[in-house]
Amino acid sequence: MTDYKSQVWRVNVRDQSLKQEAIPDTWKRLGGRGLLARILLDEVDATCDPLGSGNKLIFAPGLLVGHMLSSTDRISVGGKSPLTGGIKEANAGGRTGLHMTHMGIFALIIEDMPRADGYWILHLSLNGAKWEKADDPSLFSGQSLVGLGVYATAPKLIERYGDKVAIAMIGPGGEMRLKAAGIQNLDKDRIPSRIAARGGLGAVMGSKGLKAIVFDNAGGQKPPIADPELFKLAQKDYTKAVLEHPQSITYRDYGTAAIAPMCQSFAALTVKNFSRGTFEKAENIGGDALREFTLKRGKPSDPSHACMAGCTIKCSNVFGGEDGKVIVSPLEYETIGLMGVNLEIDSLDSIGRLNWQVNDLGLDSIEIGGALGVAAEAGLMQWGDEAGAMRLIDEIRNGTELGRTLGNGAVSVGKAYNIERVPAVKGQSMSGYEPRSIKGTGVTYATTPQGADHTCGLTIRAKINHLDPNTQKDASLNAQLNMAGYDSLGACIFAGFGYASTPDAVIKRLLKARYGWDDLPDNILQALGKETIKMEREFNKRAGFTAKDDRLPKWMTKEAIPENGAVFDVSEEVLDHIFDGIE
Ligand code: SF4
Repeated sequence: MTDYKSQVWRVNVRDQSLKQEAIPDTWKRLGGRGLLARILLDEVDATCDPLGSGNKLIFAPGLLVGHMLSSTDRISVGGKSPLTGGIKEANAGGRTGLHMTHMGIFALIIEDMPRADGYWILHLSLNGAKWEKADDPSLFSGQSLVGLGVYATAPKLIERYGDKVAIAMIGPGGEMRLKAAGIQNLDKDRIPSRIAARGGLGAVMGSKGLKAIVFDNAGGQKPPIADPELFKLAQKDYTKAVLEHPQSITYRDYGTAAIAPMCQSFAALTVKNFSRGTFEKAENIGGDALREFTLKRGKPSDPSHACMAGCTIKCSNVFGGEDGKVIVSPLEYETIGLMGVNLEIDSLDSIGRLNWQVNDLGLDSIEIGGALGVAAEAGLMQWGDEAGAMRLIDEIRNGTELGRTLGNGAVSVGKAYNIERVPAVKGQSMSGYEPRSIKGTGVTYATTPQGADHTCGLTIRAKINHLDPNTQKDASLNAQLNMAGYDSLGACIFAGFGYASTPDAVIKRLLKARYGWDDLPDNILQALGKETIKMEREFNKRAGFTAKDDRLPKWMTKEAIPENGAVFDVSEEVLDHIFDGIE
């Protein structure tokens, strides 16, 4: 075994070169989302064309990735977003983060533009980079991978490169440069189900001429730990806390769909393109229904599935049909929210089938759900109509003009059909939480540099009156800083329950043990969050964003949720000054 070397791997897609570089001092204490922001500020002109040679696609594992700490091996992917025009980080579980750290890849930076059209497979290993043509049928059992969905692509890649590798790939959506395209990653069972979904990074990968990146960690090793004893103790404390936390148990048993009844109770479901907050068929689509189906239907269903090795929460699932075949894996609340209740579709089977198609195209199910909601408002499909939604998804697959409009997201559909009621901020569709009923989450949607995104700071669990416009600022700020911190560590949103309830500053102990850093503040999580958001705001400022972009759509400030009469009435003063203390 050789010495572990952590380096920046820089790939140029024009001359197909790989350089392995020393890590700049100012990057050394950053990881995941924070590291992406630093690299983008240092190396990318914020006014560049997101699909041009000036943009870079960056993969950055979080600071604690590499040790199978429960739910803490996530990969952050970033670049300038074609969807929002601002900074973008999208993270995913699966194998990619773990493999990269074992290969000593501190960050993978992909730059420039290919010399000619066409798609490549970039194979990275300790021996360097190897490039193979994605459309060469002789490499992939007689089939070109170009135009192929991710579910058919993954087995071909595994057949060629072995079943030990991690793979990040795009589907036809990324090849078509659609703004809702994400990057699919293999999960621990080698299914391409963990998507870095948001903001169109799949289109950026497509613009770099890459169908897939294969990470072959043969000969690699775990990153070194400065103080193994301290790490072991901190890991033990954290694992105990995460295992015992009631929310871990809830998510293990019911998946993310467990949140649906809570949203219903707050009138915070996103029904019929965000026109109501409660759904009369809510019991058909919640965690109870999902669990009952998966248990009753038996194999291959699995209500508690881990997306990455070492995850003890296992919020994921395999959703199988009556016929014993997998419909989709996983079926998540956000998809249920946007492709289900948002379209008034109340069958988990229907939502699962739509979800499979969108996954196969390598698209973000939140953005496509948002786009379909606006399309239904425009009369392009009927509410509650699975066949109508499927027909529109087929338009995307066939690359028609309508399909491109849909695949470019909710705002694109609103513009094309002159629809005002588009639930989006900074060009990105909101996720499954109605911001007029959970106003703190509305503050997050409005002010996060990432565009509307619940994973940037959901406030539904804050012990506040969610309808009071005067008590949302601190809840949103706190959640936003925490989430930017967790995204920089490589921790899953649900690992946060365990980290937050472990005594004695466990994150500080883990970082100290891993890296030997002994000058960290107690609240290192929020310190990381502050630094990250500050850099992200700077990037967006350079890209031309102003305070006017930190707003929910106007119609949400006028149109009330029928159940509680709520409009979004948090003042612009609050929105404009939420980050004052960190800048
Ligand atoms: S809690 Fe869920 S999303 Fe998070 S790492 Fe585990 S399986 Fe993946």
